[in-house]
Amino acid sequence: MICVLSGGTGGAKFVDGLRLVMPADELTIIVNTGDDLMWWGLYVSPDIDSITYVLSGMLSRERGWGVKGDTFLCLQAMGQLGEPTWFHAGDRDLAVHLLRSRLMAEGKTLSEATATICQKLSVKARILPMTNSRVETRVDTPAGELSFEEYFVQRWYQDPVKSVRFAGASDAEAAPGVIDAITSADAVLIAPSNPVTSIGPILAVPGIRDALLRARGKIAAVSPIVGSTAVAGPAGILMTAQGLPCSIAGVAQAYEDFLDVLISDSRDARAADDLRQKGLRVECTQTIMRSPEDKASLAREVLASVSGLRDEPAGTAFRRLDQS
Ligand code: GDP
Repeated sequence: MICVLSGGTGGAKFVDGLRLVMPADELTIIVNTGDDLMWWGLYVSPDIDSITYVLSGMLSRERGWGVKGDTFLCLQAMGQLGEPTWFHAGDRDLAVHLLRSRLMAEGKTLSEATATICQKLSVKARILPMTNSRVETRVDTPAGELSFEEYFVQRWYQDPVKSVRFAGASDAEAAPGVIDAITSADAVLIAPSNPVTSIGPILAVPGIRDALLRARGKIAAVSPIVGSTAVAGPAGILMTAQGLPCSIAGVAQAYEDFLDVLISDSRDARAADDLRQKGLRVECTQTIMRSPEDKASLAREVLASVSGLRDEPAGTAFRRLDQS
């Protein structure tokens, strides 16, 4: 069993690769819910949707989010009614939001609603929300505190960021199955997702970081940063706001207490050497996923890397360094 921690777009590309090279029913994906929002009265979970769509073959690969071939008639109609239209929910996408919202209104948890939707869409992998409690990523800017979707989608991540917090995280509980999936997996893979606003909320749920420290399998992370910029989106800006360098060293720092191996891009060979000198295991490969071949090849490399470490003593490279 392989356990993946993931956000939306970068995570979906990585999971797309994994499903090409291993049986989907051996995959458990723990997904960020810090971006969840109420939209037109419906409960929307953008990262769970992206992972669900990629695993059901429905994801629009051009956009990287939403359903392929979707139409936006409801969005147009809502605009005509004077409703907000900045969050682009497609018509088929809305069907999923409607079903999830109805299930949750009937008293089902987000985990249960996700399992039902996955079953109806023939998703073989297990998708687990990080928590069933409400945790909201809040981005503090000079314009005030924004939800992640307001910052990212509505305002195109143009606001300078002062800090990021995960409202509700300290009182949250990991969703059923999450802790066990991490501790018992043969390997835990951290997708090339935003370390601050996609993986950060997952790590902020009490018990999850501790589960990573107790994990039986090795832990690998794929860097979403190549050189000194994010492959896409605001990860670099947000890392800087959180005091992390925007580089593979910053990614390593975000995960340093539990990471066994960092998978970075071949273009970061020099930065990788610097990290190795500090005792961290780093592997360089092509990490930009444009084609299905790129995705499959990265997935294969990451799986080979963790299985090659299987007989290594437990503990992270950084901890081994501390002990020496
Ligand atoms: P979000 O919830 O939509 O922000 O999704 P994620 O956090 O999963 O994905 C965003 C991250 O994916 C960004 O930080 C990107 O730098 C990273 N990313 C996107 N495409 C690629 C890729 O092809 N390769 C790598 N290494 N990172 C990528």
